Amino acid sequence: DARVLKRALLSVSDKTGLIDFARALSARGVALVSTGGTRKAIANAGIPVVDVADVTGFPEMMDGRVKTLHPKVHGGLLAIRENPEHEAAMLAHGIEPIDLLVVNLYPFEATVAKGADWDETIENIDIGGPAMIRAAAKNHDDVAVVVDVADYATILAALEAHDGATTRSLRKKLAQKAYARTAAYDSAISNWLAQAIGEDTPDYRAVGGKLSEPMRYGENPHQKAGFYLTGENRPGVATARQVQGKQLSYNNVNDTDAAFELASEFDPARTAAVAIIKHSNPCGVAEGGSLKDAYLRALACDPVSAFGGIVALNRKLDAASAAEIVKIFTEVIIAPDADEEAIALIAAKKNLRLLLTGALPDPRKSGLTVRSVSGGLLFQSRDNAVVDDMELKVVTKRAPTARELADLKFAFRIAKHVKSNAIVYAKDGATVGIGAGQMSRVDSSRIAAWKAAEAAKAAGLPESLTKGSVVASDAFFPFADGLLAAAEAGATAVIQPGGSMRDEDVIKAADEAGLAMVLTGHRHFRH
Ligand code: 5GP
Repeated sequence: DARVLKRALLSVSDKTGLIDFARALSARGVALVSTGGTRKAIANAGIPVVDVADVTGFPEMMDGRVKTLHPKVHGGLLAIRENPEHEAAMLAHGIEPIDLLVVNLYPFEATVAKGADWDETIENIDIGGPAMIRAAAKNHDDVAVVVDVADYATILAALEAHDGATTRSLRKKLAQKAYARTAAYDSAISNWLAQAIGEDTPDYRAVGGKLSEPMRYGENPHQKAGFYLTGENRPGVATARQVQGKQLSYNNVNDTDAAFELASEFDPARTAAVAIIKHSNPCGVAEGGSLKDAYLRALACDPVSAFGGIVALNRKLDAASAAEIVKIFTEVIIAPDADEEAIALIAAKKNLRLLLTGALPDPRKSGLTVRSVSGGLLFQSRDNAVVDDMELKVVTKRAPTARELADLKFAFRIAKHVKSNAIVYAKDGATVGIGAGQMSRVDSSRIAAWKAAEAAKAAGLPESLTKGSVVASDAFFPFADGLLAAAEAGATAVIQPGGSMRDEDVIKAADEAGLAMVLTGHRHFRH
């Protein structure tokens, strides 16, 4: 099953490592054929190389759209070597076999990522490259295909070990990798077009994804896991630069995403904001003042749960906040940026992961979310509803004061990021009690109030943190009981979507309790 390597076709956009690889192949007596730019680079290094135009008898044309799409190329890639008919066809048409194909594609993903215009993006859809890759991969019994610069060394090692030949097992492995690449490439194109035409429910195949790294384990140590990148151009955990710390675990990635998406709800030009996350739910969020102030107020909401949490910030991490964050055990810090002094402070905690994203994602931007169920995948467009854009309707006799209204919006912004049933108490731009993931809304309400009372007790405060707070609910109150539990805890104003059959009863109860209540008309379920 060993195939001696006699002739190679190289056509690469990314020319990294090309010259060394071409030189090593040439030194082994491999004949090289190349397309325009690749040929030029190889020839300039003084390595013998044949122009593909001399093989096909056609010049490259139409801005490079047609370079290698020719039977002299595809016949050389697809012919079965020990098949008499295929051999006869090669002989009859002057087709020479190609034993190794080295291609990396036009940088479509990078072109989209840099925000290129329509025409430039279209021109960066590679046609001949994927055609050759798929042909060579189909014929892996005879042909080796390389789509990744990292495999130049793999090929050279194989030639060294097997007397200038490649093995079938290696060619199979390379073929698998090749189809993964063309699949991801076409997915990226389809995703880009889906965005362009405002398609909210694209075909599941278009999600694609590329394995970024295998993980040590999944949600639990007995589960295997990997992190796949979709190439979506959204600042966040998938594209962040890890400055330091251990490899992120499966749970870390999930929780860090939740944390950063929440922090990004706060426009950094308006306010500083910090979110502390545990098990994908916030255990404290605060806005206003300095980043350090915001962190300390977020921490005060539930300092016990914050232990081992993930901290997300909406502004550049500074030394003052970093010095506070490292005081308790924290798994991950994620921020758009960090100053040198902050980075130095964090360096003292070797395991603490610091991720810098370069920017904040736009909470209003559309996109897709996916989850799996047995035998299927569920897709939906991202919840990109933002409270600032909602028409808030006051339904009680009393309207909220300006201070209450600011806190109501703050609380509803956070409720979007809390697992349902979500109840969020807030005061002065900080959460004071969060009830998450309960099967009944009234339980979420009670748990949030109870936690706020516990936090006040632990801090030696005379009354619960919910006294004089406002409360947000991610979905309507089906009965007055959840609302009354909030009033009992000391909340003075309520924000909720409305839309219950019993809205009338709930409004009446709010009026009787002297609460101000606004309806958003938007629900923020999160399961
Ligand atoms: P070069 O830099 O050698 O001029 O071009 C290399 C690039 O051209 C590679 O990314 C390769 O995938 C791509 N390519 C090779 N043949 C064709 C073709 O026939 N049509 C198109 N559109 N691209 C091709």
